[in-house]
Amino acid sequence: MNRRSFLKQTSLGLAATTLVPAQKTPRPNIVFILADDIGYGDLSCYGAKQVSTPNLDRLAKMGLRFTDAHTTSATCTPSRYAIMTGEYPWRKPGTNVLPGDAKLIIDPAQPTLPRMLQSAGYKTGCVGKWHLGLGNGGVDWNGEISPGPLELGFDESFIIPATGDRVPCVYIEGHRVVGLNPKDPIAVSYLKKVGDEPTGKEHPEYLKMPLSAGHDMTIVNGISRIGYMSGGHSALWVDEDMAGVLNRRALKFIDDHHKEPFFLYFATHDIHVPRVPSAQFRGTSHCGVRCDVIRELDDSAGQVLAALEKYGLMENTIIIFSSDNGAVVDDGYADGAAESLNGHKPSGPLRGGKYSVYEGGTRVPFSVTWKGKIQPGVSDAMISQVDLLASFAAFTGSKVAAKDSQDISGALFGKAKTARTELVEHAGARLGLRQGQWKYAGAGGNQKAELFDLSSDPGETKDLSQQKPQLMKQMAQRLAAIRAS
Ligand code: CA
Repeated sequence: MNRRSFLKQTSLGLAATTLVPAQKTPRPNIVFILADDIGYGDLSCYGAKQVSTPNLDRLAKMGLRFTDAHTTSATCTPSRYAIMTGEYPWRKPGTNVLPGDAKLIIDPAQPTLPRMLQSAGYKTGCVGKWHLGLGNGGVDWNGEISPGPLELGFDESFIIPATGDRVPCVYIEGHRVVGLNPKDPIAVSYLKKVGDEPTGKEHPEYLKMPLSAGHDMTIVNGISRIGYMSGGHSALWVDEDMAGVLNRRALKFIDDHHKEPFFLYFATHDIHVPRVPSAQFRGTSHCGVRCDVIRELDDSAGQVLAALEKYGLMENTIIIFSSDNGAVVDDGYADGAAESLNGHKPSGPLRGGKYSVYEGGTRVPFSVTWKGKIQPGVSDAMISQVDLLASFAAFTGSKVAAKDSQDISGALFGKAKTARTELVEHAGARLGLRQGQWKYAGAGGNQKAELFDLSSDPGETKDLSQQKPQLMKQMAQRLAAIRAS
């Protein structure tokens, strides 16, 4: 410790009459707000006109807003797997979208983002949507639910196990379902009906939101879900309250840990289906319920910002905002989202969205803010969320072995204009490869391979595979080499 910091810490220690522990390396807090299914065009700072997102806009304006930031995958589970492990999810079988009773798909022995930060001296908290599986298979929802977030390096967790549209519809804190009455045990199955609860298929007249596809199993809170459950009545969530419940837990984590370095992974349920905003936000946009929940998401982010400002932590906190995959409009419930777009383009100028290998599948809003440390602006660097592990490992001086995760901290903190030279994009059976302006969309399902020049054709409308066979071949070979590596 140098003399100046020694004096500073000593005087702080005297003022607070407690000892401030010495630290070798600065440890700014890290808050990662991960929205669900927010598309590239869904925020006003990314061009949306029919819905405004003043808090997320303010956050982006205080920091760096990226125009070419990606999730690894166009759906929730694989995308989140990559954030946690720094590994492309398509390397590992079983990382596709999981049912709500799936076992944990990350081996507790794997390196993870939260464990790396925990080892670096951070208090780590996980709030919100999990969707990476829990337990070792055949989880007992009435007992200890483990392994889960706590076994992967989070000190605290308050989660929804999978998604809002999948059972079980309960919150889990640590290893236990919150508010469970042991006399009313929970049973869950994704194979057959359990208990006597009505299903959407049998009783569509009970539904407050009609279905468009699937989602016709157990009805909870007037909404039928994917999967069957019975029991646990005292523990069931109320969809209208979910954003508030999760937000309060995120704020509690900041309240509890504002005096020590903390990492908060705040994975909102908004704006995934079922889209059920609280009364405060219903009808507050010009593009239907999907945009109303964007407003609700924006408010959640605003409350986190306000808490950090209240504690004077803005200069000592890195705040990242992003989404886990691109936009979807009709995702199984007939909630009027498609009919009410009113000109709103959820993917902005990009083609495709959630489930798609086109840019709209994986290119998402991404901002990083660190007041006084990161020069505000816009970055066109190509980055991926899979890089957060290696980048924050480099930042904290930690060692991790994660082959797909690159240290892009230069671009992340605005010191470099470029980052990745290539990037794999993933949507179900299709893989894509980005190399600068070029986009190779590999074959998969019934679709053949395609090639696009994003510099002249950002909307991927003109397939150049016939005009540029040599480049097609090179990129196909490169993608195959990355897969084999
Ligand atoms: Ca998602």
